[in-house]
Amino acid sequence: MSQQQPGRRTALKAAGAGALAVAAGAMAADPASAQHSTTTIRDEHALAAQLRRALPDDRVLVRGDAAYDAERAAYHRVIDHHPAAIVVPCHADDIATAVRIASHHRVPIAVQATGHGISRSAHGGLLINTRHLKRIRIDAAKHTAAVSPGVLFSELIDAAAAHGLAPASGSAVDVSVTGYTSGGGLPVIGRTVGYAADHVTRVDLVDAKGRRRRLTPHRDADLFWAVRGGKSNFGVITEIETALFPLTRLYGGNMLFTGGIPELLRAYQKFTRNLTERMTTSLVIVNVPTDSPAFPDPLRGKTLAKLRVAFTGNATEGEKLLRPLRALNPAQDSVAEMPYTDIAKIYADPAGPIRTRERAGALRALDDTTLRRLLRAAGPDADRPPMIVEIRHLGGALARAPKHPNAVGPRDAAFNLFVADVAPDPGKDTALEARQQQLFDILGPSLTGHTQPNFLTDHDKTATRVRRAYRPRDYERLTTLKRRYDRHNLFRVNHNIPPAA
Ligand SMILES: Cc1cc2nc3c(=O)[nH]c(=O)nc-3n(C[C@H](O)[C@H](O)[C@H](O)COP(=O)(O)OP(=O)(O)OC[C@H]3O[C@@H](n4cnc5c(N)ncnc54)[C@H](O)[C@@H]3O)c2cc1C
Repeated sequence: MSQQQPGRRTALKAAGAGALAVAAGAMAADPASAQHSTTTIRDEHALAAQLRRALPDDRVLVRGDAAYDAERAAYHRVIDHHPAAIVVPCHADDIATAVRIASHHRVPIAVQATGHGISRSAHGGLLINTRHLKRIRIDAAKHTAAVSPGVLFSELIDAAAAHGLAPASGSAVDVSVTGYTSGGGLPVIGRTVGYAADHVTRVDLVDAKGRRRRLTPHRDADLFWAVRGGKSNFGVITEIETALFPLTRLYGGNMLFTGGIPELLRAYQKFTRNLTERMTTSLVIVNVPTDSPAFPDPLRGKTLAKLRVAFTGNATEGEKLLRPLRALNPAQDSVAEMPYTDIAKIYADPAGPIRTRERAGALRALDDTTLRRLLRAAGPDADRPPMIVEIRHLGGALARAPKHPNAVGPRDAAFNLFVADVAPDPGKDTALEARQQQLFDILGPSLTGHTQPNFLTDHDKTATRVRRAYRPRDYERLTTLKRRYDRHNLFRVNHNIPPAA
């Protein structure tokens, strides 16, 4: 992904063209995070001066430097922050140096590759932007890839495809392999392969003291467990080694339905029962605002739905499985044999930058009661529904414990739930959040109470919400490890796991 300069921009695509509409632009400050940082102006100058002495000049940026705005810009424009300094490393040693200096000044540290998962303001802190670290090494015989933290999935997918292999990538290919995998990584083919974090064989990390560590199932095994799910709470990942799959093609794509949503939901409920784990799908309901410039006139004010399909079996079998859904006459249908390298077309996520309000959760099951609640909260007759409500089918390999346990879990939900509203105007955030809360209230007992780490948003900054991303005993273990490895909570500009008291 090429980073966008900050500023007001509108990136709109019609649903008919395969994407959901997004409006980018207006940026909001994050007062909670500003309070979070205790750095003073004097510290800021001292930090920048020391970083400049220790690192080549062009790797340290402060306000006023030409590249400062480009390096602090994020895909998600909900947070507009001004870190005291930005380090743009060319090597893992630069990261170690920067962390040692920040640690000396007790300055909070944020890590960013793309800003797809920005959660807190790094105002007054140190931002390490890894986006220029782009090394990919593929071991075709072992089916593994070792990637630097700036590598995007689009880059790894292309490199792996040259060897007939594929990574466990998510819906958007312009996220970093490292950021996604450190939060679990829910792949488009998740039911077939499980979480991306389940396939990591090695992690290189710079810890809170600025020490470089190599983590494997047998070396620093507790940290190896924690960083696969714990995101940046334990340090900066400088390389991840992960398995690749011998996969060059899929039977995949999406179908757009412009009516008959209750019937579609019932058919989808039946379809997902006892389904082979080679089939992973999601269903997104889109309530198109009446004034949305992103949609053609006839679709405005309508409730649409899009089925996203990724089948790792053959086309004949896939076609047979999808017959009951095709019988509902989708207005558009792109599901066909496709190369894995085209996987981004299945979800057609927006290129960004975007400004949205988002919430996520998980459904216990898609039983009749849940289906009724979903329709009440997001169907054609819903009162002020959120714009985008997606349920993504879990189970299969996602429900199984990995060979080397990690902090990803619980694994018993039937569907991931993702809710979003395009929010170009921060003044309307409160109303949109109320609308989303209404959906969560209606779904109530159908929810597991869990949210996957990668689906926590800037809305989920509190300790209570972060806690819900983990199994209770895992969360306790994470806080204990946090106390051991990051006692001063330097890595707190994230979905923070605080050190145990
Ligand atoms: C359009 C879209 C589609 C998505 N689809 C999926 C999906 O299908 N499945 C899924 O699981 N997730 C999905 N996500 C969520 C995404 O995987 C997470 O937001 C992920 O953290 C993005 O990583 P990043 O590095 O690109 O983003 P950044 O915002 O740069 O980083 C987000 C966080 O990742 C961690 N991180 C990044 N780099 C490092 C590092 N070097 N060391 C330690 N921690 C690091 C940090 O905690 C950081 O705050 C999607 C997000 C978007 C916006």
